[in-house]
Amino acid sequence: MSERGFPPFTEEHAIFRKTVRDFVQKELAPHAREWDRAGDFPSAIFPKLGALGLLGLRHPDSVGGAGVDYWYTVVFAEELVHSRCAGVNMAIAVQTDMATPVLSELGSDEIKREFVMPAIRGERIGALGITEPGCGSDVAALRTTARLDGDDYVVNGAKTFITNGARASFITLAARTGGEGHTGISLLVLPTDTKGFSVTRKLAKVGNHASDTAELAFEDCRVPRRYLLGVENHGFRYIMQNFQGERLIAALFAVAAAKLALDDAVAYGRDRVAFGRPVVKFQVWRHELTDLYTQLEAARWLTYRACDLFDRKLDALREISMAKLYACELACRVTDRCLQLHGGYGYTDEFDISRAWRDARLLTIGGGTSEVMKEIISKTLGL
Ligand SMILES: Cc1cc2nc3c(=O)[nH]c(=O)nc-3n(C[C@H](O)[C@H](O)[C@H](O)COP(=O)(O)OP(=O)(O)OC[C@H]3O[C@@H](n4cnc5c(N)ncnc54)[C@H](O)[C@@H]3O)c2cc1C
Repeated sequence: MSERGFPPFTEEHAIFRKTVRDFVQKELAPHAREWDRAGDFPSAIFPKLGALGLLGLRHPDSVGGAGVDYWYTVVFAEELVHSRCAGVNMAIAVQTDMATPVLSELGSDEIKREFVMPAIRGERIGALGITEPGCGSDVAALRTTARLDGDDYVVNGAKTFITNGARASFITLAARTGGEGHTGISLLVLPTDTKGFSVTRKLAKVGNHASDTAELAFEDCRVPRRYLLGVENHGFRYIMQNFQGERLIAALFAVAAAKLALDDAVAYGRDRVAFGRPVVKFQVWRHELTDLYTQLEAARWLTYRACDLFDRKLDALREISMAKLYACELACRVTDRCLQLHGGYGYTDEFDISRAWRDARLLTIGGGTSEVMKEIISKTLGL
């Protein structure tokens, strides 16, 4: 435990950290470049993660999860970033922190048996389907419909930017079951072997190349009514609650990615000599790095503060939104400046910084943009 007992990492967290670190170093990091270039990674990593209990940290032991505090997720996210393959990390985080927690919280025993338990074992891969071609930030405007017909919902519409969309075996789907606006939305589980479901295309992206980001179509897909999550037309509230976990893990990824980029840049700057001295010894760089490390420390403690509130199930809307805003903007700034410190090599694929810079760019967009975070924060401030 640290000097003041915060963050509350224990010996058990330290042992867990070593387990994750070993897994990342052995199974993920050696393949980062290859998977990034291939624009793909093997789904076989999911059962390997499952076998170590790494996919169930947010789930209770009643469904095969670890039933542990949120600080294990913090450790997991911090260590995962050392894979240096953000696309894979995002795919894993969608499984653990975006597509499945709401199934554990709201799903029937059948949903838990059919989807949650196999997902925790890594046998089924999940995706979260909210964004549509016509709306992202404005979730309340979504147009995909799920009309009740007998004992089934009949789903029609389209989703886009769906991480794991091309490999998922089920989608935690937001669809309109009622009237216009936020009061007409429900969440349901849609197995991807449902007739009428198709992956329209995989999208080419700036970064996060290894992960599949897909456009999906639903044509008269019949989903049993029992796959509804919680109460019909209450989906908007569930989505907003679910976003908290998604945004927090984005902030954790951002802090860890910024730290990795800074440490790499310092190592490079100590080696690289210009005008007779290591680049890092120029005052302009020492000051810039000092500024960035200071901001990193601020981002880390803001994020830990949000994690603490979230772990204790207290209202953390403002803190999580601030952490997501500040840490993700910082990760973009840090990776950009660290690329600059690498000079020409920074712009090549010879060093990890170019991939880190491309990958970081998503952080201020995915899971709610920086502008949307500012809207939320300003509301909590009464502005
Ligand atoms: C690689 C990747 C993976 C993704 N994975 C998933 C996924 O798995 N599941 C999923 O459902 N979605 C996913 N998304 C979608 C992501 O959450 C959205 O892209 C994001 O929420 C923004 O929505 P949008 O793209 O429709 O932008 P828009 O909402 O069209 O916004 C466009 C611009 O307008 C700004 N803007 C919008 N509203 C306001 C406002 N009120 N005030 C000020 N500015 C505003 C935005 O900040 C942005 O700059 C993913 C996206 C990417 C790129």
